[in-house]
Amino acid sequence: MVLKKFIESLSDKYLNSYTEGFNYSTDYELIIKLILSPRASEHKVEFLGNLIVSSYKDYKSLAMAPLDDIENIIRPVGFFNQKAIRLKRAAFYISSTLDNKIPNTTYELMKIPGIGVKSARKYLSLRSNTEEIIIDTHFKRVLKRLNFISSNSKNSEIENWFKGLISKNIHSRSSNLISYFGKKICLNNKPKCDLCQYKRFCNFFSSVHNR
Ligand code: SF4
Repeated sequence: MVLKKFIESLSDKYLNSYTEGFNYSTDYELIIKLILSPRASEHKVEFLGNLIVSSYKDYKSLAMAPLDDIENIIRPVGFFNQKAIRLKRAAFYISSTLDNKIPNTTYELMKIPGIGVKSARKYLSLRSNTEEIIIDTHFKRVLKRLNFISSNSKNSEIENWFKGLISKNIHSRSSNLISYFGKKICLNNKPKCDLCQYKRFCNFFSSVHNR
């Protein structure tokens, strides 16, 4: 299968839903959900992120909130102590240093406490169709199973290969679509192969069904 065709086919099917898991209407809401998201289910990020937004209306009020109160709200999410500190520090940094304006480069975004390279790229890819490629575990799992990359491919190699084949104006959208397919269909433990139209290209499927 050709990568470009694979992405076109994902786009036909999932373009209207691939940002699921990050429902947001403001930058504030998206930043909060990105900080909550590492190692957390989409459902918890969505629910607890909305609770934070409804409890503290902006960065300044979140920055001023007692740490205990933030911890109590986000307690069901993994690493809630660390994430509460990050939320408070990020809110303080954005309201005091950035004057509530979120930057539009990976480098500047990563200065916000709690925003690492993946979150920065995710932010940029969701807010605008940038040239950034989001290489996460879902993205890599799908590409490995479909024989596009090998299990020992490095991120830098994957990035160069991908950029060589896909137009830069759709880099972020394409990588988000692949990642979305990995989260919804090509799951790590129990992929929903019965719903998948790419079985005949798949290593994993043939290894399981040819035993
Ligand atoms: S056949 Fe199954 S394992 Fe292979 S790509 Fe499709 S969902 Fe993933």
